[in-house]
Amino acid sequence: MSAKILDGRWVRQQLLSELKPRVEQLTGTHRPPGLAVILVGHDPASEIYVRGKIKACGELGIYSEKITPPDTITTDALLGIIEGLNQRSEIDGILVQMPLPKQVDSRRILLAVKPDKDVDGFHPVNVGSLVANIPSPRACTPAGIMQLLRRYEIPISGKKAVVVGRSDIVGKPMALLLLHQSATVTICHSKTANLAEECRRADILVAAIGRANLITRDFIRPGAVVIDVGQNRGADGKGLIGDVDAAAALELASAYTPVPGGVGPLTIAMLMSNTVQAAEQHVCSG
Ligand code: NDP
Repeated sequence: MSAKILDGRWVRQQLLSELKPRVEQLTGTHRPPGLAVILVGHDPASEIYVRGKIKACGELGIYSEKITPPDTITTDALLGIIEGLNQRSEIDGILVQMPLPKQVDSRRILLAVKPDKDVDGFHPVNVGSLVANIPSPRACTPAGIMQLLRRYEIPISGKKAVVVGRSDIVGKPMALLLLHQSATVTICHSKTANLAEECRRADILVAAIGRANLITRDFIRPGAVVIDVGQNRGADGKGLIGDVDAAAALELASAYTPVPGGVGPLTIAMLMSNTVQAAEQHVCSG
């Protein structure tokens, strides 16, 4: 078997071209959607991610604002910045780029963003809505994966899904989104016994671990759909390596998201989608 490649760039293109008329409509009738991105300090990876987000805003016609406090900022000062953004009616989404310096209380920061401006879907109010399956901003990476599965018409209902990783930003929301589509979901993590055996049960296997090539051929049931979320740096510090051994997935899976070019392109597209959605709600209610 040779796996069908699930092309995240193609899905991203679709998502963005669907958003474009919605942005134009908002801009023509009210105002452009607005996203504020707070980047504390100069973490090189964070700078790259933020650049990508601001660029995507520019391409779509979303107003964006980058706020760059120094890495010596206190929790209270950062809370003050967020409070200011919460009050501004032209800002629909507030994104605080993680990680924050260690003197900053990340939990308080997360709680300070108004839930209707929480375009990352990390606020506990939005996490609660996800659990209850009530519409709210969803975490971008898992939401993007659901779009990819939908657009490639991959059936989910009644399938066995195994998610490896239980982080708040990928593993847990991923598992819940699959559950809401009626998959039978198993969540695995670093303490899971017999990880390979658990993974081999999967019709849909999602690897969100952060360990290069951990998922080898022993973990993949022939014919499974394999989603590789991992973005690990190569030994030379350059290049991206997934959590899944690509050769094994290509040989055994029925469909597979490559790294790069699979899941990666979807995250920013979903951030744009959450921002546009927030703007539509704000102009309707405002
Ligand atoms: P975290 O480090 O927050 O979580 C990793 C999870 O993997 C944890 O639940 C951990 O278990 C589990 N884990 C670690 N080692 C093992 C192991 N040996 N066996 C089984 N489970 C293990 O990472 P994230 O969820 O933030 O990210 C995961 C990956 O996805 C990373 O490579 C990241 O770069 C990538 N990513 C990609 C994005 C994209 O846009 N494509 C966006 C976000 C992340 P435990 O809880 O027990 O510690």
